[in-house]
Amino acid sequence: MSRIVFRNANVVDGVNPVRPRSTVVVEGDRIALVSNEGSAAGASIDPATREIDLRGRTLMPGLVSCHFHTTFHDLVPGEAPALQILHPPATYTILAQRNLGIALEAGVTSIVCSSTFESIDSSLKNAIDQAWIAGPRMLCGSHELMATADIASGASRNYWLELGNCGLVRTTDGASGFRKIVREEIKQGAEVIKLSMSSGHNAGPTEERSCLTKEELAAAVAAAHDRGALVRAHTASKRSILDCAQAGVDIIDHADRMDEECIEAVLKSGSTVVPSLFYMMRVLEFMDSGALDGKIPAGASTMFQRTLASMREDSAQLRSFLPEVDAAGVKLVCGDDFGTVFLQHGEYASELVFYVKEVGIPPKDVLRWATRNGADLFANGDEFGAVEEGKLADLLVVDGDPLSDIACLEDATKLHAVLKGGVFESERTALSA
Ligand SMILES: [Zn+2]
Repeated sequence: MSRIVFRNANVVDGVNPVRPRSTVVVEGDRIALVSNEGSAAGASIDPATREIDLRGRTLMPGLVSCHFHTTFHDLVPGEAPALQILHPPATYTILAQRNLGIALEAGVTSIVCSSTFESIDSSLKNAIDQAWIAGPRMLCGSHELMATADIASGASRNYWLELGNCGLVRTTDGASGFRKIVREEIKQGAEVIKLSMSSGHNAGPTEERSCLTKEELAAAVAAAHDRGALVRAHTASKRSILDCAQAGVDIIDHADRMDEECIEAVLKSGSTVVPSLFYMMRVLEFMDSGALDGKIPAGASTMFQRTLASMREDSAQLRSFLPEVDAAGVKLVCGDDFGTVFLQHGEYASELVFYVKEVGIPPKDVLRWATRNGADLFANGDEFGAVEEGKLADLLVVDGDPLSDIACLEDATKLHAVLKGGVFESERTALSA
C-alpha cells in the first residue's frame, strides 16, 4: 500500500479549526492520520513511504463543483448552440473529457453535473472508473427536463429553445410523462435529474410562476428518489423556489429571488442551494464593457436585452441577500455555468474569491460550501470533503492560507499538487522531503 507523509502542513478545511504544523499521513486512498505533533508521528523507514515537507503550505480538501456542465465550451448566450446541437455528440464528449482534465488540474476533485445528453456524463464516469481517462468523482447529470412552452413560447421568444427533444432538452407533460422520462434518464446513467422550473437566470426574463405543476414536480421527485437519484431544478422565481423546497428537490439552482420565506422553506426541506451569482456578475460585466457588442444574433437581441434587465435586477437582490441566507444556515455550494464565454472552465476558484471579496461571505463559509457541503450531495459524501482521519485523500497543496486570503486559490502557480484518492493527479512543483 502506498504511503505519503506530509509534514509541516497548514491543514485547512471548512469544518475544523486551522491546524498549523501538522503531519498528515495518507495510506492507500485514505487519510490515516492528522496530527499536530509533527515530529515523530508517522515516521517510517519504509522505502515505499514518500515523505514531503510542505514547509507551512496549506493542505486542504479538493474542491467540489456542484453545477458542472461537462460539455460546455465557449457558449455565447442567445444562440442555439447553447442546446449543444452545433456538433455531433462525439465532439461534445471530447470537449467534456478535456473539461474534466482541466477541472482536476485546477483542484476540483468532485463534480455534481447539471445537464447532459447522449449519456455523455455516464460514459465519462465509466471511463474514469476504468482508469481510461483522468477526471473528478462525478454525479452524472440528465437532460434538462422541461414542460411544453415553459419559458419560450411564441414567435417573439427564442424559437430554438422550444425545439423539443433536441440536444440538452427533453420535453414532456403531465405526471406520468415526467415519471417516465425521469426513469429513462436514470436508465441512461443520470444520478441527478435536472428540471427546468422557472424562467430567469439567463433563460428569458424571470416570470413569477413555476413551469411544472405540483403534480408533475411531485411525480418527477418521487420517480428519481425511488431509484436513488437526486433532483435539481433551475429556479429564479420565488414561486418555483418554494415549490421545489416543498416537493423535496435536493438541489435548488440559482434561486435568484430567494427571500425570508424561501429561507424558511429551504431550511425545512434541507435542500442545497447553488447561488451561482458569479455567472450573472460576469455576464453583466461583459455586457457593460461592450465586449459582446455585435456578437449576439439580431434575432435574439430583443429577448436577450429583456433577459439581461431581469438578471440585473435579480442578481442585485440575491447579492445583497446572500450573506443572510448563509448566516441562516442554508446549505450553500459552489458551481456555476463554466464553459460559457463569460466563465471558462478552469476559473472555478475565482467563484470562491468572488463570494468572499465581493459578496462579503466569510472565507471559512465559502470553503465549506466548496468542499464539505458539496461532498454531502454524494451518497458517500461523509468519506471526503474534509481533512480528517479515515476520509478519502482528495487533497490540494497550496501556497498561502485561503482563510486569510482566499485569492491564493485563484493563482494556478500556487496550486502545487492535486491528489484524488491518495494518487497525485497533478504535481506542478516537485515536492520533496
Ligand atoms: Zn447551468
